[in-house]
Amino acid sequence: MGRRRRKVVRIPKKRLPNVFTCPRCGKEAIRVQLLRGEQRAILRCGSCQLRSEMPMKPAHGEVDIYSYFMDQWYTGKAIIATTPPPSAETKPGQA
Ligand SMILES: [Zn+2]
Repeated sequence: MGRRRRKVVRIPKKRLPNVFTCPRCGKEAIRVQLLRGEQRAILRCGSCQLRSEMPMKPAHGEVDIYSYFMDQWYTGKAIIATTPPPSAETKPGQA
């Protein structure tokens, strides 16, 4: 019987468990802040000041928020608060 035991790979926790790589500046400086009471999360890059906000579900953790953000980022849907979109994308009714 060739039943192999699956190796459980544990990722050791770094001293900054909620710091992620920023897609804009490439530095490991994104911090995720979960506002569970408000059901939203804030991502902020300490290096380039990128800031994004998104809704979260109670089961979400920092990693979920980050991967969701990366998804949004690469599909161009991420809401970036610090860098206003170029004038081409001005929304009507918003100052
Ligand atoms: Zn950055």
